[in-house]
Amino acid sequence: MHVTSVDEHKLRTELVEEFCELVQVDSEPYEEAELAQVVEKKLLELGFEVERDDVGKKIGGNCGNLIARLPEAHCSHEKPILLCAHLDRVPPGFGVKPCLKGDRIVSSGDTVLGADDAAGLVAILAGMRIARRVQSVLPPLEVIITVCEEKGLQGSRHLDYSKLQSEMGFVFDAARPVGVVITGAPTHIKFEVDVIGRAAHAGINPEDGVSAMQTAAEAITHVPFGWVDENTTANIGLINGGEAMNIVCERVHLVGEVRSHDDEVAANVLKQFEECFVNEAAKSGATTKFEASTLYKSYYVEENSEAIQLLQNALSRIGRSMTLELSNGGTDANQFNAHGIESVGLGIGFEQAHSTRESITVEELVAAAKLASCLILRT
Ligand SMILES: [Zn+2]
Repeated sequence: MHVTSVDEHKLRTELVEEFCELVQVDSEPYEEAELAQVVEKKLLELGFEVERDDVGKKIGGNCGNLIARLPEAHCSHEKPILLCAHLDRVPPGFGVKPCLKGDRIVSSGDTVLGADDAAGLVAILAGMRIARRVQSVLPPLEVIITVCEEKGLQGSRHLDYSKLQSEMGFVFDAARPVGVVITGAPTHIKFEVDVIGRAAHAGINPEDGVSAMQTAAEAITHVPFGWVDENTTANIGLINGGEAMNIVCERVHLVGEVRSHDDEVAANVLKQFEECFVNEAAKSGATTKFEASTLYKSYYVEENSEAIQLLQNALSRIGRSMTLELSNGGTDANQFNAHGIESVGLGIGFEQAHSTRESITVEELVAAAKLASCLILRT
């Protein structure tokens, strides 16, 4: 038997059923326990050994990552490959009511659909089921099901990498058609700025005050915004401050980000932000506090890498052509690459993710499951 000779009608029915089952289990970042239990049971039924780590405790969630391995892999000298999807979905992610309209699955419109990333979970589970029907003993495999991906990749950030043996990974989590491979994603830096001025009565002695708000406003007109170059974006997305109408504003707090595929450019843009605030503060007499943290590092996987070769074969087997793309969003692949596991993101067909208009076609669910099975079988 071969992957391409699976009963298509049966596969479609199974995929729609399992997809709808998973999205109806409530899950949001930090609250993945219920869905983790359902997925864990399915992995056990498929013959995996499943371990749960304690990352939930570290990040304040109710559940850790699932690390699943095939026991038959213990007696193989081959290196495993890693497949990954995440459990959490962005709010509103509770009470999802999936609905099949023609070939497309949509939500009721009050919630997201949660195809990001239930489609990834289903692709891996169904891919495994197909692979089991084709071949009884499978090549070594590690399946990592992460938590809190949507909150800065926290699950994969805190994963204990000493437990993993894979040298290449495939992350089923890109809002692109099956066939698109995300070979690179940027470094993502978050920064926070405090501008501290001096309070005074705005009507009686404003000359004694230093407005943090005005200082911040001046700085904001000089900082980089939007596309800085073709590989770099910058933004300030949050601003808070002030006590009352009649007080010269003493404190303003701002939060922003820089993303770039080039680490050096990212560092330079970040420096520009800091300098703009320092300069304006020096003019007005305010002070500033600037803090930055790297949420994840950029990665780039070469076209001639083993992972791309394997994908090329798998995709041609399921009748899809391969398109290599860069993304400007991070996925668990960023963390895996940072820990020496050469990983790419895979388009799995969901559309309009992170909105209540999110949807996916059954055709894409089928293609993603077949792709997973080819990767598992390494054919
Ligand atoms: Zn996702």
